[in-house]
Amino acid sequence: MARQRRAVLAAAGAVAAAGALLLGTLPGQATPTPTAAAPGPAYVYRVHAPLGAAAQDLLGKGFDVLETRDGQDLFVAGDARVGERLRAAGFSAAVDQVVQAPQWTPPAKRWQSPSYTAADMADTYYGGYRTVNAQYAHLDSVASQYPGLATVVDYGDSWRKTQGAGGYDLRAICITKKVSGDCARTPSAAKPRLFVMGQLHAREITTGDVAYRWIDELVTGYGNNAEITSILDTTEVWVVPIANPDGVDIVQQGGNSPILQRKNANGSGCAADSNGVDLNRNTSSGYGTGSSASKCDQTYRGTAANSEVETRALQGLWKQLYPDRRDGGMTTPAPADTKGVVLSMHSYSNLVLFPWGSTTAQKTGNDAALRGMAKDMAQIAGGWGYGQPGEVLYNAGGSTDDWVYDELGVASFVWEIGGASGTCGGFVPAFSCQQSTWWPKVKPMLVYSAKKAANPYGGGTPPPPPPPGCGKKTNDTDVAIPDGGAAVTSSINVSGCAGNAPSGTPVEVHIKHTWRGDVVVDLVAPDGTAYRLKNTSSNDSADNIDTTYTVNLSSEAMNGTWNLKVQDVARYDTGSIDSWSLTF
Ligand SMILES: [Zn+2]
Repeated sequence: MARQRRAVLAAAGAVAAAGALLLGTLPGQATPTPTAAAPGPAYVYRVHAPLGAAAQDLLGKGFDVLETRDGQDLFVAGDARVGERLRAAGFSAAVDQVVQAPQWTPPAKRWQSPSYTAADMADTYYGGYRTVNAQYAHLDSVASQYPGLATVVDYGDSWRKTQGAGGYDLRAICITKKVSGDCARTPSAAKPRLFVMGQLHAREITTGDVAYRWIDELVTGYGNNAEITSILDTTEVWVVPIANPDGVDIVQQGGNSPILQRKNANGSGCAADSNGVDLNRNTSSGYGTGSSASKCDQTYRGTAANSEVETRALQGLWKQLYPDRRDGGMTTPAPADTKGVVLSMHSYSNLVLFPWGSTTAQKTGNDAALRGMAKDMAQIAGGWGYGQPGEVLYNAGGSTDDWVYDELGVASFVWEIGGASGTCGGFVPAFSCQQSTWWPKVKPMLVYSAKKAANPYGGGTPPPPPPPGCGKKTNDTDVAIPDGGAAVTSSINVSGCAGNAPSGTPVEVHIKHTWRGDVVVDLVAPDGTAYRLKNTSSNDSADNIDTTYTVNLSSEAMNGTWNLKVQDVARYDTGSIDSWSLTF
């Protein structure tokens, strides 16, 4: 822990030095007082606020306190007037950074499209970050490309949509190797569930991008990567890439002067980035701690606990996905065989947090297991800090992560992804930082979390290993297809897979041919039943077949010899079976 904290402190120190140099002073000297009237530059102020009363006072007064701490200091974002307000409230307020506005172009479209095409997936801002529409188009694309793995779920409407003022659906995707009953919204699911959420705080744009990459990692890894295949054979992975789409819509509209919107869009009368309710201070667990009652403050908790539609929609979804395993007081544990893990991704400060966020006076009844997992996650990330929020950052009640553990007993974590300094630090790192820096750290943390979902507290039954011998089977021996001749076959032998094949079995076919309309393709089951994959179509003059067909094989036993039967029914053009695969 001490070693990890030092790394964080060193990084924050570097920022302080850089900020001071930018303003023409040296660390330790008096920093200039920004006096320009709004809308001037934005600043990050370093504020002396040790853990405890001072930190809570700062939050209670509604300052935009960033999710990062350096020893005795917290950091507050705002314009020149915020520096004056801090000093008037009795806080020290040294300028730590001058925030340079990134250059980005606003996307062309607002609000949800009635339907999506591949073109919508290219709708990005700030060098590649996906808009809400691009993320939603991606979900649809994944579900149609991988019907045996992915299911898109609409779990509610954003505040603006409920007002008939634009807005978005609230969308999740369930990814698993589907068998009957999977991805149903019932808490009695056979498979344990990992739930991963990004952009509850809209401006924390790294988190939506990480969610996007995780979805792709899962669906492309199934059948190709043993670890991912095993996860999806045994676990349901639920991903909400954008939990606050109205807020992200505001962020992405910022053009060359990005709007650092944190909250949802339920509010009016404040500055451009200050309307709305903080969705991570709005739940009924510890409501009121570390939040503000003033509507323009960044930590505004709303008019009542669970007042926001986005909050209630998430709570409704979690109640559908997880049985209630915990009742009683703050220290009552959930049973040791409780299943499931819920991750809420935020940025930044390279921390792993777990309940209680509302207080450090009490530890949860599952503290040892939660703390142990947080330590593992922090280590996988390369030495992040970890602890209850009040141990490493500040107390904050009304969070979704506290609510999940409080109400349901499910193991629940916050990841504060990102450094306070360096070229990839802050709220809005360059898009290239996602590939180079953050995804390589977060991916193994996600894999770890998925494996823990079956038995996070250690008292349950570990999941049975997947039946041996199942997974993806391929025959890549070429078979020539005679021109206008008899059918030819290519076979795959399956053994050791108990039971019938899935209702959505992917059958991947690669055939080289110079006029593919000549070709008819069938899959023949071990019992001789033929499933037509492709008919002839004399007008289709294109080359080659590279298609994954989804076939309902639920009445067929998996074991036995499967054949791909291919016939060229017209003269002149010819080709060969290149390869084909079955994935059970
Ligand atoms: Zn956050």
